[in-house]
Amino acid sequence: MKRVYQKQLLGVFGDPVDDNPSVVIEQAAFDAENLPMQYLTIQVKKGDLQKAIDGMKAMNFLGINITMPHKMEVLKYLDVVAEDARVMGAVNTIYQRNGKLYGENTDGKGFVMNLKNGNIPIINKNAVILGAGGVARAIAVELANAGIRKITVVNIFEEQGEALTGLLNHSTPACAEFELWNGTYSIPENTDILVNATSIGFVKETEKPDINYESLNANVVVCDVIPNKENTLFLAEAKKKGCRTFHGMQMLVNQGAIAFELWTGRKAPVEVMLKALKESYKV
Ligand code: NDP
Repeated sequence: MKRVYQKQLLGVFGDPVDDNPSVVIEQAAFDAENLPMQYLTIQVKKGDLQKAIDGMKAMNFLGINITMPHKMEVLKYLDVVAEDARVMGAVNTIYQRNGKLYGENTDGKGFVMNLKNGNIPIINKNAVILGAGGVARAIAVELANAGIRKITVVNIFEEQGEALTGLLNHSTPACAEFELWNGTYSIPENTDILVNATSIGFVKETEKPDINYESLNANVVVCDVIPNKENTLFLAEAKKKGCRTFHGMQMLVNQGAIAFELWTGRKAPVEVMLKALKESYKV
């Protein structure tokens, strides 16, 4: 029998990238499905992205994830960009087909998948998003596409917050407003979904967003994006108030599962991916 040693290459471009967990979930999925694919974590410095994209084309990579600082710049090197990714102005997943590069953003889709899998209604609901960075933007656009009525963006800097609400009001069906995060923020009574889309709780487990947790009622669905912990302090406080919660580990796995499906055309083994992620973070 002829032996085949060549593997199809995939990976992630970013800087810093050495602790990016995508390799853990994607390689676990490829191995579980017996696919001859190798996922690489590749440092690409600012200024080198175009060369790296040319390289992936030359080496016939099946796909690439894109992380900081390249998510916005990469759009100009792609042949086709999905509409929602174009609205966000950021791509995190590329796939190559017939010599063409296609760009998608799976971050917000992974978030919405969490809610849909949990049978959480989105249509005509009100969401509050803490933060206005890249992930907040991806989540807000996908919530808007999924039929949310109103999005309140709460951010410590007015400029980023106003930029996100402007984008939502201009390019999506949702109605958005900005609130300056100046001291302890009280959650409005009509809130259905609350999202921590900041990085608070990622490095320091003892930190949580500065909100009035007493203002949370049990009907609010509370979500965190922090990808390395199941139970952040933010989610622990929400659980104490009786809220349903969704963690960022599952969101990370979901966005990786969508990428897996774009690359392979197969359904992703999400349980295998979550188990691998938990093992790598010792959760
Ligand atoms: P950005 O740096 O683009 O945005 C971070 C946001 O958090 C900004 O709005 C920033 O405000 C805000 N922020 C940071 N510190 C504070 C603070 N102390 N008080 C109030 N607001 C604060 O990062 P990303 O959006 O790319 O990532 C955010 C988090 O999401 C990270 O922890 C990342 O690991 C995680 N992530 C999770 C994924 C998942 O699938 N679960 C996928 C990708 C990322 P400002 O800009 O105004 O300073």
